[in-house]
Amino acid sequence: MSETPQDPTLLSRPKLVAPDGHTKVLLHSCCAPCSGEVMEAMTASGIDYTIYFYNPNIHPRTEYELRKTENIRFAEKHNIPFIDADYDSDNWFARAKGMEMEPERGIRCTMCFDMRFERTALHAYENGFPVITSCLGISRWKNMEQINGSGERAAAKYPGVTYWTHNWRKMGGAARMVEISKRENFYQQEYCGCIYSLRDTNLWRQSKGNPKIVRGEKFYGKTSQDGKPVSEEASPSAE
Ligand code: SF4
Repeated sequence: MSETPQDPTLLSRPKLVAPDGHTKVLLHSCCAPCSGEVMEAMTASGIDYTIYFYNPNIHPRTEYELRKTENIRFAEKHNIPFIDADYDSDNWFARAKGMEMEPERGIRCTMCFDMRFERTALHAYENGFPVITSCLGISRWKNMEQINGSGERAAAKYPGVTYWTHNWRKMGGAARMVEISKRENFYQQEYCGCIYSLRDTNLWRQSKGNPKIVRGEKFYGKTSQDGKPVSEEASPSAE
């Protein structure tokens, strides 16, 4: 049984209804901070959902494992089924070939969303999930239209599968995302995920006179080594 109904912040949530009133959803998740709010919102609305973790874009592997482990930790806490899909990063790099210098929110990101949603939609089709959605759009750094376009394209390939375009940022979702991340002390990634976003975020930080990213060290709600609270929005590309 989920612990979330006891959380007072959940009791004031509006009840969400998935497309066509379906109550079974496959939720593509990129990480714990982005999915925490979406998970609690669905739990509070009585939606039966399963997490699908397919993110071959995340680089390097240690970063991928850390983000995945944090997501599993939260899913287990709430007894939510978690599907650990393939880390086929070779395929991701093959599809990204020629797009290495593209900026974030450009065509490389469309490819990256397409790839992740194609696999999510296939799993939904083969396993009887009528609705798919994703927490990717909860980050204010992301382009919702770009994400929804990829989700709808992927779902359209499979009869009986619909992509739910709900904007998880709205109705207080963005603020609750940070609240939950602090409450759970989630790992706080500082770049979107791929090797190119790591490169570009470091270049951006250097241009501001800031040090490069040190991966694996920041956690929401904890203090840094100098005793100061860790900032919540450290870069323009955290996923
Ligand atoms: S910046 Fe993010 S969304 Fe874009 S290609 Fe890299 S990992 Fe994928």
